[in-house]
Amino acid sequence: MKARQIMHPADAKALQVLKQARGFNTLIKYFMQVGDERIMRGENLGTMLRVTPDNLPKVYAAFREVVCRVGIDEPELYVYNDPVMNAYTYGDTRIFVALSSLLVERLTLPELKSIMAHECGHILCRHTLYKTVLHIIEDMGKAAQVITGSLAFPAYCALQYWNRMSEYSADRCAAAVVGEQVFQSALLKLTSGLSDIQGDPYQLVEQGKRYYEMKNVSFFDRVQQACREMFYSHPQDCQRAYEIDRWKSSANYRYLTNNLN
Ligand SMILES: [Zn+2]
Repeated sequence: MKARQIMHPADAKALQVLKQARGFNTLIKYFMQVGDERIMRGENLGTMLRVTPDNLPKVYAAFREVVCRVGIDEPELYVYNDPVMNAYTYGDTRIFVALSSLLVERLTLPELKSIMAHECGHILCRHTLYKTVLHIIEDMGKAAQVITGSLAFPAYCALQYWNRMSEYSADRCAAAVVGEQVFQSALLKLTSGLSDIQGDPYQLVEQGKRYYEMKNVSFFDRVQQACREMFYSHPQDCQRAYEIDRWKSSANYRYLTNNLN
């Protein structure tokens, strides 16, 4: 798979803006000098379970399969104890993927593969360096206010916006690897927190349509919702469902599903 086959235009455009933002290079250099990637590795080894073929054979085999389909070097895979369904990938030279314990327990294996493929999509599109920087800034608390209140503030704002847009590209990777319907099913579980949801598998897509209709009622509605969305690290779940539903009729989706599966 090639990054250009899954990259959402808003992701590519936001990344371009980000690289031109005042202070961006300073921001990246600062965090690479601090060497926080090594701190993260210590955190992983110290507090999470590294997945191996022996301890979680089905999860590991699924991950290997996804990594091969996406066509990236195999990252380290960890599971951490968390009663919230979540997953993430960070790192620059040593990239890892982490899955929460509830995610592993509550999703079916194909749905879990879709989340693994989403994380691998971030790696394929080379999102991880910038996501690592953002993660570290957010973890720094007060110190982050000094950085984001300085010259690097425009870069930080651009980074946050790009972060949301990058999720659309990773979602496309998930849909390409497992099929869009499996990904929609995983999204339904992530949104609701429930493991058994009846009815239309595209119900979040319908919610997405209603959401965009509501946003487009007036200029005030658009601004109000845009301000609310700013506080999220990801696009709204219904927007993600809607975007993938639109992408499933694209030539890239058809090509990837015919050639990967
Ligand atoms: Zn993501």
